[in-house]
Amino acid sequence: SDIGSQKERVVTEEEWLQKWEMGNIGFHKEQGHPLLQKYLDVLLNGRSGLRIFFPLCGKAVEMKWLADMGHNIVGVEVSEQALKEFFSEHSLPYCEEPVPEISGGKMFQSTSGNISLYCCSIYDLSSSIIGKFDGVWDRGALVAVNPRDRQRYASLMINLMEKNSSYLLVTVSYDPNKHKGPPFYVPESEVKSLFG
Ligand code: SAH
Repeated sequence: SDIGSQKERVVTEEEWLQKWEMGNIGFHKEQGHPLLQKYLDVLLNGRSGLRIFFPLCGKAVEMKWLADMGHNIVGVEVSEQALKEFFSEHSLPYCEEPVPEISGGKMFQSTSGNISLYCCSIYDLSSSIIGKFDGVWDRGALVAVNPRDRQRYASLMINLMEKNSSYLLVTVSYDPNKHKGPPFYVPESEVKSLFG
């Protein structure tokens, strides 16, 4: 498949921060994603108390949903505003601490301890900082990454996975010559070559 002109497109961190400031966040869904409900059993695979990673998390309500089910949530997001909105919109008390390994990095953690959200670029993270995960919810993440960074993103995600982890990925299918994205069009063939 041809991803056309999207290959070269770059959305900077600054532009993402501006989207949050302007309230230009059409990607955010107040209701949990129907595909997570549909495939929850695939993600959990009969397990409980999982460590679940939300790359490029925004203020995804599914983080609260899975935390309430007894799982431990870790997310990463460049916008501090997004993370603060997450905690305030769910009335969750939290504390804030620096992340010594990452210059300028901060971690926002719910007082109950089961939701830890890193404010930094995902490319600043590694398994030595955040550990490995039993599950990943990737919605608005691979498709939001700049096309030239997909390989790096996928390698990192693979590195963050425990042996028996499950990865739920949501992509969008459309003609990439008609919209510039994000969300970018990531063909099935590319998903296969990225994740094997
Ligand atoms: N997954 C969320 C948000 C999708 S939009 C949801 O489903 O609602 C993509 C998000 O990624 C934005 O909030 C943007 O601020 C953030 N983002 C973009 N580049 C990033 C990067 N390199 N590291 C961390 N977050 C990033």
